[in-house]
Parts: sequence; C-alpha cells; structure tokens
Amino acid sequence: MAAQIIDGKAVSAKVKEEVRQEIEREGLEVGLAVVIVGDDPASRVYVNNKKKACEVCGIKSYEYALPAETTEEQLLELVDTLNADDKVNGILVQLPLPKHLNEEKVIERISPMKDVDAFHAANVGKIMIGNYAFLPCTPAGCMELIHSAGIDVSGKECVVIGRSNIVGKPMAMLLLHENGTVTVCHSRTKDLKEVCRRADILVAAVGRAGFVTADMVKDGAVVIDVGINRNADGKLCGDVAYDEVAEKASFITPVPGGVGPMTIAMLMKNTVMAKRIQSK
Ligand code: NAD
Repeated sequence: MAAQIIDGKAVSAKVKEEVRQEIEREGLEVGLAVVIVGDDPASRVYVNNKKKACEVCGIKSYEYALPAETTEEQLLELVDTLNADDKVNGILVQLPLPKHLNEEKVIERISPMKDVDAFHAANVGKIMIGNYAFLPCTPAGCMELIHSAGIDVSGKECVVIGRSNIVGKPMAMLLLHENGTVTVCHSRTKDLKEVCRRADILVAAVGRAGFVTADMVKDGAVVIDVGINRNADGKLCGDVAYDEVAEKASFITPVPGGVGPMTIAMLMKNTVMAKRIQSK
C-alpha cells in the first residue's frame, strides 16, 4: 500500500497562521535580523523565503547583506549591534559563511536569548538537558510533521542517518525526549541497511540524492526526508528514493514540500518565543 504523504506545506502554513494570530491578538512587535554574507545563490533563496514568512506572520525583518570579503571583526561588530538593538528579537546568520569567517565564533557571539536557530552552545546544552526555550528549526519541524500525522514516538525504534550539529544530533535528542529508542547512523556505521530496517521512524539527513532505498526501509515505517539535493536532471530532491520507498512506508515526507517549509515556520515560532523571553 502506498504511504500517506505528510504535507509540510500545509502544516507549515498552519504553524505560520498560528504565529500570525498570536502576534495580532497580543499586538506584539517582533523583529528578526537576517544576516547574509556573500552571494551564495542557495543562501539567497533561503533568506528570501525567511523574509517572506516574516511578512506572512507580521514579523518585521531586517536584512543585512554583507559583501563576501567582510572581515570577522566587521561581522562580530554587527552581531554586537544587533544584540543591543531592542527592535531585534531574533538574529539569524545564514550559514555557510565564507571560509575565512569562523562560524562557531560568530554563533557564540549571538546573545543566546536572540539565537533563534538554537545553534549557540548555551541553547544546545539546554536541549540536551531537556529544559529549552528554542528548538533547532529543522529537527523541531520534523517533530511537528510526525505529530501532525498522529504518530506517537514513545517506545518506537527511531533511526537518524546523519550526525550534524544542525540536524542529526538534535533530531536524535528530540526523539529521545519523546521516549523513542534512538540510533544515530553516520558515514562510519556498519551494516547501515540492517540498522535502518529496524526503524519504525527513519529520519534521513545525509545530503545525497536517492540514498535511502526501499530495501533499507521496514514495511510501514514513517520516513522523514530532511535532505535537499539536486538529482542528475537538476531537480530538487531529498535523500530518499521517494517512489520506491513510498510503496513501503506508512507515512513519508516529500521533497520539496516536506521538511523544508517547516524549518522556516519553526523559525517564526522561535522568533516570537524570543520576544517573550526578552519581554520578561
Ligand atoms: P552534513 O553534511 O553536515 O551531515 C551529513 C551527515 O550524513 C554526516 O553526519 C555524515 O556522517 C552522514 N553521512 C554521510 N555519508 C553517509 C553514508 N554513506 N552513510 C551514512 N551516513 C552518512 O549535512 P546536514 O547539514 O546535516 O544536512 C543534511 C541534509 O539535510 C543536506 O541535504 C542538507 O541540505 C539538508 N538540510 C535540510 C534542511 C531543511 O530545512 N530541510 C535544513 C538543514 C539541512
């Protein structure tokens, strides 16, 4: 039987509408600063989409587009200015940064209270403990999709492929918080296929088109595809060989229209949360 599609566009529209209503109802003034350095075309698309989502939600967005040759000192100075600016509740520095800039140093400079990506070590630590204000947007979006399909994570075998700080590791933590039995796989994992076949919930965050094939998926599994890749024809696709896996899974997220839109919706949620924290 073919899998049910979890519609990320619809769920993200719902989350954004909830954020919009919350802002309207309470007359909140919320601002998000988006910093982009250089002219990476993918980053430009992401930044534009984030600005559009701000408009939809009634969040004021402030864009800072800096040239590729911006020095670390200049970027850190801008972060300091934004940290001190009361109109700015959230600060997002679009990654990746040009190679001469130290991403870790820049992220650590953002006030943890304005770190709406939840990449700052202080926020990452809170996520580990389970006492957090912000959740990293992509894993939080995956959880929202899982919930939207009415899936209870408790006691389920969960396998996450990928161990990045942005997706894989926090994803594993969020599944663990909901009492999943979690395995994290990576490039050195042995018998990846066998491990994946145990999964009731399989999350792919690898960055390789068509990486997860049907023989790696248990019948009836829930498959969440985080990957954003281009296939040989230049078409946008995920990490999952969608057509064959959809024949086996119970639920599946498409690419595009799955996790991607959720990431932005969760960013909007985090920005309102930031406003609340700062208003206390
Ligand atoms: P990354 O390159 O930092 O991490 C990839 C992970 O995959 C690594 O941990 C690595 O160990 C693992 N991996 C690589 N080859 C493997 C193999 N052969 N077997 C098992 N594991 C292997 O990437 P990332 O930042 O975590 O992103 C992963 C994908 O998700 C990318 O396609 C990225 O574009 C996408 N992404 C999407 C969103 C979204 O909003 N939908 C957000 C962030 C990232």
